[in-house]
Amino acid sequence: MTHLSSRMSRVGASPTAAISDTLRRLSAQGHDVINLGEGELDFATPPHVCEAGIAAIRAGATKYTAVSGTAALKAAIARKFLRDNDLTYPPEQIIAGAGAKQLIFNALLATIDAGDEVLVPAPYWVSYPDMVRLAGGEPVIVATSPRTGWKLTPQDLAAHLTPRTKWVILNSPNNPTGAVYTRAELAALAGVLVGHDALIMADDIYEHMIHEGTFIAPASAMPDLFERILTINGVSKGYSMTGWRLGFAAGPLWLIRAMDTLQSQSTSNASTISQAAAIAALDGDMAFVAGWRARLRARRDLLIGAIDDIAGLSCDVPPGSFYVFADCRGLFGTVAPDGARLETDGDVAAFLVRDAHIGVVPGSAFGTAGYLRLAYAIDDQLLGQAIARLKTSLGKLT
Ligand code: PLP
Repeated sequence: MTHLSSRMSRVGASPTAAISDTLRRLSAQGHDVINLGEGELDFATPPHVCEAGIAAIRAGATKYTAVSGTAALKAAIARKFLRDNDLTYPPEQIIAGAGAKQLIFNALLATIDAGDEVLVPAPYWVSYPDMVRLAGGEPVIVATSPRTGWKLTPQDLAAHLTPRTKWVILNSPNNPTGAVYTRAELAALAGVLVGHDALIMADDIYEHMIHEGTFIAPASAMPDLFERILTINGVSKGYSMTGWRLGFAAGPLWLIRAMDTLQSQSTSNASTISQAAAIAALDGDMAFVAGWRARLRARRDLLIGAIDDIAGLSCDVPPGSFYVFADCRGLFGTVAPDGARLETDGDVAAFLVRDAHIGVVPGSAFGTAGYLRLAYAIDDQLLGQAIARLKTSLGKLT
């Protein structure tokens, strides 16, 4: 007998967390593991941001705030949207929460009825489909391919919209492919969506992680749909603040109000200290990000160069985020020294954990089998070691 709700049978644990657990276990056994599975920058949170958090504690800013965040934080978020994205949102159309993840979840929970469909282009961030299912909806996965730079086309979008489509999720730069939509591509998608009443979720969390091209916020490239777009962003990726748990969203008043109500009955406000730190991040000088990008780009180029040299692996150049999405189908049918035959991306990932003590995430976790996601947001020296181990281990396959 189980006391779990039927809702829980619709979801699984995050696959990225499962890889991290295995690696932690190996590490506890004394193995030297390298995790290329985690979606987290290795850089420290900038000192001026940390100082603002410490100052908030010292000033006694350690109590409840308004559920949606302090007026000062919402003003800083509004300034950010205007400055970076040419978007104007009044404070009542802005909400802060415990990470972008919580806001995405709240938005879906606030809007989805049983049987509602949510279009999720694949490869996708692992949590979207499970969040849709938890909210009682049906994720409708729309495959993309390297042929279109892993981007949703207007034709594929049109082919999957139905009267039950509640949301279309766009994530640019994309996790896991690094795809970045241009203004023209977003406008073409808007041309399809204008004839439908679906909401659009723009997950812009990797906004600052661009190596080629320019970031365009869907809400600014789709002006005719502005009233139906929820923009999701936060400080986790751009400011290396994953553990501070601070995300924000801006969108139509009715939706932000509903998200506020949900949050008021679940987690209440995001940490007061993190809110103060986020103001310093959003208002502060962003010169450091250019340095981060340069280092990330060098790592990316090192990794894609190595992948090019490994028989059975290949990848395109990802223009954004900090992941490489490598095709590993060329390794299928090979045999590991322990006799295991590699037939799936999961087999390849498991072999790499076993043989090289390296964590990567199989593409099937992102809805696209036959690939591996390798995060290159790790220390340069470790990345060099990881590449050497990848070459050695994959070289043992026959
Ligand atoms: N959206 C995408 C595409 C992500 O990759 C992540 C984190 O990995 C999130 C949202 C969640 O970010 P946060 O740390 O702000 O909850």
